[in-house]
Amino acid sequence: MRLNNKIVLVTGAASGIGYAITELFAEQGATVFASDIKAPLKPYAEGVEALDLDVTSEAAWKEAVDAVVGKAGRLDVLINNAGIIAYEPLDELGIEAWNRMIAVDQTGVFLGMREAVRVMRPQQSGSIINISSIWGSAAVGGAHSYHAAKGAVRNMSKNAAITYVGDGIRVNSVHPGFIATPLTDAQAADLNEATIGATPMKRAGRPEEIAYGALFLASDESSYVTGTELVIDGGYLAQ
Ligand code: NAD
Repeated sequence: MRLNNKIVLVTGAASGIGYAITELFAEQGATVFASDIKAPLKPYAEGVEALDLDVTSEAAWKEAVDAVVGKAGRLDVLINNAGIIAYEPLDELGIEAWNRMIAVDQTGVFLGMREAVRVMRPQQSGSIINISSIWGSAAVGGAHSYHAAKGAVRNMSKNAAITYVGDGIRVNSVHPGFIATPLTDAQAADLNEATIGATPMKRAGRPEEIAYGALFLASDESSYVTGTELVIDGGYLAQ
């Protein structure tokens, strides 16, 4: 029960990494508010509260955080996990596709952190965990908008960590390598094989392997950890 009494809001909780975080956190004693724009692939565990939250909407963020605080009285942990991916190289990237990526993967994180800080500052405590990617700090060909957003999330996390360090709020980013989820299942098989082949462990990660990293950052065990990058990637970035 490493998260006893913690009130947690997870975005993009309906599948993949967000679902695994929701399940593990509920198992570890947290009260979890699981938000997404779609219904979960499998029902959430008992006690998990489902919320509608499109992370690109300023109004929806306010409503969701107000709902959490209205029901639970506080917000201890925000997991900014919702995300999309696209592989267009710079010269093939249209403005609409660019704007969509930035809206979900970057602006969503900005809006989420801003709403969370509004609640966490008066509490003088909180942990914000932003799911970036190995592509937030290293490059693969193409995926220009994804790199832009995930790199920004890495640096936004550090900025927020330093800005609110005096308010008892910790902010960290998590950088998964290739994880088997509906997101990667939908990608071309040769692309997936190439990424796994370039991973020293020569296998895909499991969503729960990211959830365990988030668990550490959400719990009081990480009380001296802020502004850092937790890389969980089968050794990819060590090369
Ligand atoms: P996934 O597609 O299984 O889950 C993403 C969830 O986000 C979905 O349930 C989707 O409905 C939700 N979502 C999408 N747009 C949204 C919006 N506007 N508002 C709210 N929710 C929205 O993907 P995943 O692999 O579990 O990815 C989770 C996070 O991890 C993403 O930020 C992704 O970029 C990141 N990541 C994934 C991998 C990987 O290999 N799977 C690697 C690095 C980083």
